[in-house]
Amino acid sequence: MQVFRLKGSFQTLDPLLPLLFDHGARGLEEKEGEVWAYFPERVDLPLEGEWLTLPDEDWLSAWKRDLKPVEAGPFLVLAPWHQAQEGFIPLVIEPGMAFGTGHHETTRLALRALAGRVREGARVLDLGTGSGILAIAAAKLGARAMGVDIDPSVIPLARENARRNGVEVEFLEGSLEALEGPFDLIVANLFAELHQALMPAYAARLAPGGVLLLTGILRSKADGVEEALRAWGFSFQREAEGEWVLYAATP
Ligand code: SAM
Repeated sequence: MQVFRLKGSFQTLDPLLPLLFDHGARGLEEKEGEVWAYFPERVDLPLEGEWLTLPDEDWLSAWKRDLKPVEAGPFLVLAPWHQAQEGFIPLVIEPGMAFGTGHHETTRLALRALAGRVREGARVLDLGTGSGILAIAAAKLGARAMGVDIDPSVIPLARENARRNGVEVEFLEGSLEALEGPFDLIVANLFAELHQALMPAYAARLAPGGVLLLTGILRSKADGVEEALRAWGFSFQREAEGEWVLYAATP
């Protein structure tokens, strides 16, 4: 197994990740300050990084062994080979295929924020759905959930994850501008500048009394998001984990 090591995180390298899959990557893993892309053989990549050779079996068994279930509020995010645990709502997500395995702070912030805010039958939009994890979590809480992503490659993965979890979720390729509201809740794990740009579209698509959950925001970028929330008349609360922030806002 060949590994291509890139400096950064899933968040900072997000626009480049589809390119890795286009060149034959079989899986991605986030390490301390790096993303590791696993390939069956070395390929020419138009990216800066370093190749490393790992013995196949060692890699696979070590990766599976090291990957632990992740707790976030009432949820436990599990790989398909993990055992469910009593007292948690299981979210079974195939790891390494798309962003959204529970191993990133922003996904955990969003999962915790969803718990207690999703009402039975509510119409919930997960914008930038990746693995589908947040839409699947909302569906498990009783919502009519929809997951949308501009990256078409994640849609079949998200659908497969919903099937694994036994929930109905509508997954579509696209972005917010093409969607019709109103939504009772919109959750979006994107990035600060995009949230600022989307603020009018969020406001237009939220039902009266609806909830907007925004994450993917670095602490250093939070001021701009707060300014935009205020400018569009939202009241908000802020939650944080590590360097990352989530806003729970209401119109
Ligand atoms: N929702 C998952 C989670 O919380 O772990 C994945 C979030 S991942 C950080 C961001 C996702 O947003 C990526 O899958 C990316 O393709 C998608 N994305 C980026 N810009 C977008 C846009 N303008 N509209 C819809 N999706 C977008």
